[in-house]
Amino acid sequence: MNTNLLHGDLCPLCRRPLTLRPTTVVRSAGVPYPTRTDYLPHCDSCTSDPLNSQKWNDAMNARDES
Ligand SMILES: [Zn+2]
Repeated sequence: MNTNLLHGDLCPLCRRPLTLRPTTVVRSAGVPYPTRTDYLPHCDSCTSDPLNSQKWNDAMNARDES
């Protein structure tokens, strides 16, 4: 499976195209679908840098709120 799908948005920090990264969400037992896969926007360039990573998270959170 292609794990480097284009998200279609640009990174708020470096302006590179964001990619979608699958994350597995594990839910508690008893719900019909205890696990599912979400795709979160991701920037390889920013999140590989520990200093930028925090700024990137802040920028993405601010972006979601607007
Ligand atoms: Zn970036």
